[in-house]
Order: sequence, then structure tokens, then C-alpha cells
Amino acid sequence: MAALALRGVRKSFGPVEVLSGIDLDIAEGEFTVFVGPSGCGKSTLLRMIAGLEDIDEGEVAIAGERINEVAPAERGIAMVFQSYALYPHMTVAQNMGFALKMAGQPAKAVEAAVARAAAILQIEPLLSRKPRELSGGQRQRVAIGRAIVRKPAVFLFDEPLSNLDAALRVQMRIELSKLHQELGSTMVYVTHDQVEAMTLGDRIAVFNGGRIEQVGAPLELYTRPANQFVAGFLGSPR
Ligand code: ADP
Ligand code: MG
Repeated sequence: MAALALRGVRKSFGPVEVLSGIDLDIAEGEFTVFVGPSGCGKSTLLRMIAGLEDIDEGEVAIAGERINEVAPAERGIAMVFQSYALYPHMTVAQNMGFALKMAGQPAKAVEAAVARAAAILQIEPLLSRKPRELSGGQRQRVAIGRAIVRKPAVFLFDEPLSNLDAALRVQMRIELSKLHQELGSTMVYVTHDQVEAMTLGDRIAVFNGGRIEQVGAPLELYTRPANQFVAGFLGSPR
């Protein structure tokens, strides 16, 4: 059974159709990259999966359960944004533990979960700091830590590295791969960066104008692009 299944998912904003029927099965533990040019609907689809945007038509299912009508906090999904979205008045530890605290978990359990996530990301020395006292890379680690703490069934990443400089992006890519190996979680990662897609993805879905052009392993897309768009976008000769 798919960890995450999308069936005929559609979305329009007013008269403009942004997603025109997305079908995709994502296996448990798979790292799937959604890649495509700016404006092709990647963020909108992630927001629909996370419950931040209504689903006009079609179905989203997690482990076989339809979640279209399930509240965002109940979906077992954690999303990491490009903009970090940390609470400025809270410490790193408070930011990371906030969702568990809101869910009514005892302070000791929250503390333990935060400590575990901080150890995985090697940010223990930052736990008592405020977001303004962190670098961009550190903030993004905290944002990822906040997602880990919730032990989601599915992680969603929306261009999490695009605010970082090039050297740090490369380093964070390696860390994200390690994190995926360590947690073994299902992850969906959105980017418009072809190199990021090719290096991170077990599987890549190439988006264009609200549709998926092709889904496959990086090497498969590179050597056997289904069409001119995929060939051009992933930069392989044809
Ligand atoms: P991507 O993440 O691939 O760059 P988006 O999902 O952000 O693309 O946007 C897809 C299209 O939907 C764009 O044309 C964008 O302008 C439009 N769009 C996104 N959100 C809204 C909204 N809330 N209202 C109207 N149009 C929107
Ligand atoms: Mg986007």
C-alpha cells in the first residue's frame, strides 16, 4: 500500500486551473522529489497534501486512508518551508516542542523528543537560543527539527534550501540525505533546482503546467526522458 497516494487531484484558483489531475503513488520510506519550473503548481500540491489548501477534486490518501477532510494537525504530516516560519519570541527548544505541547503531551515527553531531534541534527548547543540569534542554515535545521519532533508519517519540504548560499545548500543536501537514511521516513521534496532533484531523489516527478510529465528514478529520467520537456529540463542530450 502506498504511504501517500494522489488520485486525480485538481485545483483551480478562479478560472485558472493550476493542477489538472495529479496521480501518484509514493511508497513507504521513499524520497520523492517534485521538480518543475516556477509557477507549475508544486507548492499548491504540497499545501493540499498538508491540508493548507482545499482539494477541489480527487483524493489524497495516507496509508490507504482518505485525508481530504482530515484537519491539518491530524494528518500525520509535517511541512518544512523555505521561510523557516519559526516563532521569533520562542527559543529553539520551544519552537521544536510547540506542536507536541499543543497536542497535550507531558513536558517530559516533549523535552525528550526535542532532545532526540536536536541530537540527530546536531543542534543541541542552539536549544536555548532565539531564532534571531541563528544563521540561515541553523534556522533551517531548527525548522527540520520541528518536523522530526512530530514523528510524521510523511515529511513535506517546500524548497527548504533556496534561501541558503550555494555552499551551504550543498552541505544541507548531504545532511538531508543522511537524515532520510537515518529516519527511513517517507519524504516529498519540492524544488525548481534540477541538481537538487537529481542528487536527492529516489524518484523524481517532473511537473509542467499543472501536470506530471514523467515519474522515475533520476538515471531513468536522464537517459530515457519521455519527452522534449523532460529532456530539456533535466539537461540531458537527446
Ligand atoms: P510553484 O510552487 O510550482 O512555483 P505554485 O503552486 O506556488 O507554483 O503556484 C501555481 C500557480 O498558482 C501560480 O500561477 C500561482 O500564481 C497560482 N496561485 C498559487 N496560490 C494562489 C492563490 N492563493 N490564489 C491565486 N493563485 C494562486
Ligand atoms: Mg513553490
